[in-house]
Amino acid sequence: MSTPISFEVYPPRNPESAPALYEAIDVLGELGPKFISVTFGAGGTDTSGSIEVLKYINENTSAVALAHLTCAGTSKTELDSVIGEFLQAGITDFLALRGDLPIGLSELPTDSLKTANELVSLIRSSAKDRAKQIAVAAFPNGHPESGANRADLVALRAKQDAGADFAITQLFFYASDYFNFVTLAREAGVTIPIIPGIMPIISHKRLARVLELTGEREPVELAASLAAAQDASERTEIGISWAANLVAELSQGGAPGIHLYAFNEHKNVSEVLRRAQLV
Ligand code: FAD
Repeated sequence: MSTPISFEVYPPRNPESAPALYEAIDVLGELGPKFISVTFGAGGTDTSGSIEVLKYINENTSAVALAHLTCAGTSKTELDSVIGEFLQAGITDFLALRGDLPIGLSELPTDSLKTANELVSLIRSSAKDRAKQIAVAAFPNGHPESGANRADLVALRAKQDAGADFAITQLFFYASDYFNFVTLAREAGVTIPIIPGIMPIISHKRLARVLELTGEREPVELAASLAAAQDASERTEIGISWAANLVAELSQGGAPGIHLYAFNEHKNVSEVLRRAQLV
């Protein structure tokens, strides 16, 4: 049986970019993903952007609509009402995240939830049996704050113990990073499925941005190939080919799913899956 696939998209940043997103969801939905997840602003309580996209996924594809939800900077009372809004809109599956500190805040307000495992517990207690699957984040090369003692593994175990059903990883560039991490996680008592998250990197700009956001080490060979490329189409080819090889290796090595960061477009991620023979 083929490895299950899934995608991540984000709410459109302006009305002009909405049609491309909905077209991407239509095309990606035809590939039979298990779920399509929709990101949520850190420290935010405005659900409207996410909910519209999640409802579109529910109404127009057979994929589960998975709502990202962040908790840093938000009180339990506010989060209860946010969870209620999602449920009211028919959204029953969540990716529970801490998020990062809202811009301008140097420390969390005292009534804010502090870690993702607290959010998993809150969703379980607030939504009761109306919440179906709860996913959480995992970091093959460590979370930037977790340090050499890999506190992120303790955090992942705490998220599982709070009721998480599966994990989706931060992007990474080498299959060995993922397989070594799964071994470490199993040693730390993590038994839930860990789905690798993969992003096709089709430009220097995107590579620099994701390295800045994630704290990942630069993949030297990929960076050099992108630097040597003559034009955008050559860079796209390099990014797709790197991601397709990675996806094929992960799927052949037994990864329980492949989650692609789609960047609200369908061509590149569809091509990655075609080359990896998953669609
Ligand atoms: P936590 O699990 O709370 O962990 C954060 C750090 O705190 C850990 O590394 C650890 O050092 C420490 N920690 C937490 N709990 C414990 C514990 N019990 N014991 C010891 N140490 C602990 N951000 C957004 O704003 N919006 C999004 O939509 C979004 N989507 C994402 C999707 C994926 C798949 C991933 C991987 C990340 C996403 N992020 C998103 C980014 C995420 O919010 C940040 O990486 C954030 O810094 C950490 O979130 P977390 O849920 O892993 O936090």
